[in-house]
Amino acid sequence: MINKRKCAIVGCGFVGSTIAYTLLQSGMFSEMVLIDINKEKARGEAEDLSHCLPFHAPMDIYAGEYKDSADSAIVVITAGVNQRPGQSRLSLVQTNAAIMNSIVSHLLAVGSEAIFLVVSNPVDILTYTALARSNFPKGRVIGSGTVLDSARLKYLAGKHFSVDPRNVHSFIIGEHGDSELAVFSSANISGIDLGDFCSTGHTEIQTGACAPSAMQKLYEEVKGSAYRIIEGKDATYYGIAEATRRIVEAIVNDEKSIMPISAYLDGEYGIRDVCIGVPCVIGKGGIENVLEIPLDEGELAALRRSASELRSVLHAISVPSPFLSNR
Ligand code: NAD
Repeated sequence: MINKRKCAIVGCGFVGSTIAYTLLQSGMFSEMVLIDINKEKARGEAEDLSHCLPFHAPMDIYAGEYKDSADSAIVVITAGVNQRPGQSRLSLVQTNAAIMNSIVSHLLAVGSEAIFLVVSNPVDILTYTALARSNFPKGRVIGSGTVLDSARLKYLAGKHFSVDPRNVHSFIIGEHGDSELAVFSSANISGIDLGDFCSTGHTEIQTGACAPSAMQKLYEEVKGSAYRIIEGKDATYYGIAEATRRIVEAIVNDEKSIMPISAYLDGEYGIRDVCIGVPCVIGKGGIENVLEIPLDEGELAALRRSASELRSVLHAISVPSPFLSNR
């Protein structure tokens, strides 16, 4: 039986351990299992994290095996390997898809009925891989999608318009990667159309802040974020950890929150048989609805291009289709 107060994290590197830290602080769980192929790493992280407990709500954090995760409500998967010198991007995808298949097989073998939240990259391809391998209903396998990218857009737009990023409402959708796109056609600041915001009399706005070229620059900055961070510190983990905590919170609290997670599309936006970042309603069942938000012509074309790039990768690495159209 599922223990609603229990989660598991598979992969305890930079991202997995930082997610564990944010979940510990959130107080949402009373038990957390850390699983890694490198057992010593999982053991060390569990011990270090446990030393935070005198400052937080009681919780049992330990390094474990797959069997220990069997009754978890949510399993966050962050395991993966990085590119080796001389290795092609496609071969790396193949390796990480094989790792995902093996992790999901282990989870199935212990009878996991959890919601799987995939964070490992390439997240859209690996979400599809996990869905195909698990045979779970499509709402139960979620990719972190473009939640982080959208947070980056909100942060940068907040600075650009001199407002609280929480007042910025806009999505990055599509692949979590180079073909992603910003949906500026419906972007707004507290309900005020982005294009109109510059005439509100907000005194700290620079001239030309609402010009299309300024929007394009914001989008380019979002796309370059991960590259810039990795150049400086080799990995990104705080942003994705907060994004993951937020998705988990929406599930645990049955919030019906709308977030651009990676979901399986079965005809929405005219796209079929691919997992990709689009706004979805997230609640206790995982993905409860895929929303078809209005897009202008250019945005819709860009989303479809992004989907077809993902489809060609899935084809190249021969991931079997989850055949979900009748679920
Ligand atoms: P990392 O190398 O620090 O950690 C990966 C961990 O996975 C390691 O501890 C490794 O031992 C473990 N691992 C490898 N194979 C395993 C297996 N078969 N079973 C269990 N554990 C296994 O890498 P990281 O910086 O923590 O990044 C993890 C993943 O998260 C990467 O794929 C990265 O690209 C991705 N990521 C995603 C986002 C996003 O927005 N979705 C953002 C940042 C990073």
